[in-house]
Amino acid sequence: MSDLKKSLFTGEQTKAIHAGETPDAVSGASAPNLVMSTTFVVDTEAGFSVESMEDGAYVYSRWGNPTVHQLEEKLAVLENAETAVAFASGMGAISTLLFHLLKAGDHAVISDVAYAALSEITNEMIPGLGIEITKVNTSDLEAVRNAMRPNTRLVYVETPCNPLLRLTDLAAVAGIVRRSGAKLAVDSTFATPLATRPLELGADFVIHSLTKYLGGHGDALGGAILGRKEDLAPLRRKTSIRLGGCLSPFNAWLIMRGLATFPIRMRVHQENALQVATFLEQHPKIRNVIYPGLPSHPQYELAKRQMKNFSGMITFRMENGREQAARLAGKLQIIHYAVSLGHHRSLIFYLNGRDLLETSFKLSTREQQQSWDDYAGEGIFRLSVGLEDATDLISDLQQALDD
Ligand SMILES: *Cc1c(COP(=O)(O)O)cnc(C)c1O
Repeated sequence: MSDLKKSLFTGEQTKAIHAGETPDAVSGASAPNLVMSTTFVVDTEAGFSVESMEDGAYVYSRWGNPTVHQLEEKLAVLENAETAVAFASGMGAISTLLFHLLKAGDHAVISDVAYAALSEITNEMIPGLGIEITKVNTSDLEAVRNAMRPNTRLVYVETPCNPLLRLTDLAAVAGIVRRSGAKLAVDSTFATPLATRPLELGADFVIHSLTKYLGGHGDALGGAILGRKEDLAPLRRKTSIRLGGCLSPFNAWLIMRGLATFPIRMRVHQENALQVATFLEQHPKIRNVIYPGLPSHPQYELAKRQMKNFSGMITFRMENGREQAARLAGKLQIIHYAVSLGHHRSLIFYLNGRDLLETSFKLSTREQQQSWDDYAGEGIFRLSVGLEDATDLISDLQQALDD
């Protein structure tokens, strides 16, 4: 991007629409081109280098593709990162980062409650490679400090974490990690770049599932890692293009289209979620509503300091959650009973505490179990508040709950 352009792209909405995109040089097309070609006609002199892609010369779409590249540039501008690498899914991004950074003999500190598939690969697959993993509640700074070892290469945090909506103080954790010489990676999918910029708080890598708020429409899987060029150029060259979890240009194009309205959508997600959370909090059948934008959130002060937007995720608990889930799934008319989140459609799903603790989160200490019980107990409803009218969402919940 030219310096003049950079100086004019000050607002989030301008960046979301224009960053990374340029009218097509041949046709003048104003909207981004969708380039589905897997291969590109190359100059015999050019050779086969990944670096050539960084100068805008393409060879093969697993190495780099012009449509995917436009999305990567837009994401980097939104996150205020030097660069971005896109992946086929959030898990594609996460697994590539772990395989790239960790080798046998290394140690990593991972959030004890984080996206379930990440937890699952760090339970068996990664330790099976001779990499030691310590799971800690990263909201507990003393626990993070105590977990650090001389061979700790990576600290991996998710805030707010899925599904608990528990927060981690990123500036404080970054301080601990920096002193130890390890790298800090933050999954910021729930927060989004509109709320929190982990790189500005001292993180080395930011991860997003583009499937959620950034794509925003529930029709394209995608993922990204953002950070410094000196870290991500080797990650692309040595790991990402070899493991092959690259993003389809069609999905990149859809996600870019979704991103054009990203800041506007986040404002409505937040407004709607606050209204729905307030409604749930006063409903007699609901107990324990967790939303970072509510003063009742256990870490409300941290939420206000670290999140410029409280996003659209709420959790709540009910007596007999499992039976209530079956009832609600049958009665809700607008809100879909489905996994995933961050879409324009509202989604709700019941997460059974015992099942999750057995399959995903193997909590090892009394403190970890206590924190889980405080937030989730035997199970929680995870509600992703969409962009419908808040009054309609509240009416839908009311009729389903009161019936
Ligand atoms: C969904 C999600 C992921 C995984 O993303 P996929 O695109 O489904 O692979 C990772 N982290 C968080 C916090 C998520 O919500």
